[in-house]
Amino acid sequence: MAVVATATEDGTLDAFPSDDDKDERVSGPYTGYDKYGTVDHTYWTCENCGAEATRKGALTDCC
Ligand SMILES: [Zn+2]
Repeated sequence: MAVVATATEDGTLDAFPSDDDKDERVSGPYTGYDKYGTVDHTYWTCENCGAEATRKGALTDCC
């Protein structure tokens, strides 16, 4: 019983750090403004190389 409980707990804990790792490399969303100072778009940045993208998914395979 104890072994099963531990295995389940490990599986749950393992899943969340994986998501956090992705979120650490891609930070955002940030708010982007146009030249008039109006909210224009949201964007994410890759902290590894500084790339910006208006879709978070575009940075998943960035580097
Ligand atoms: Zn990158």
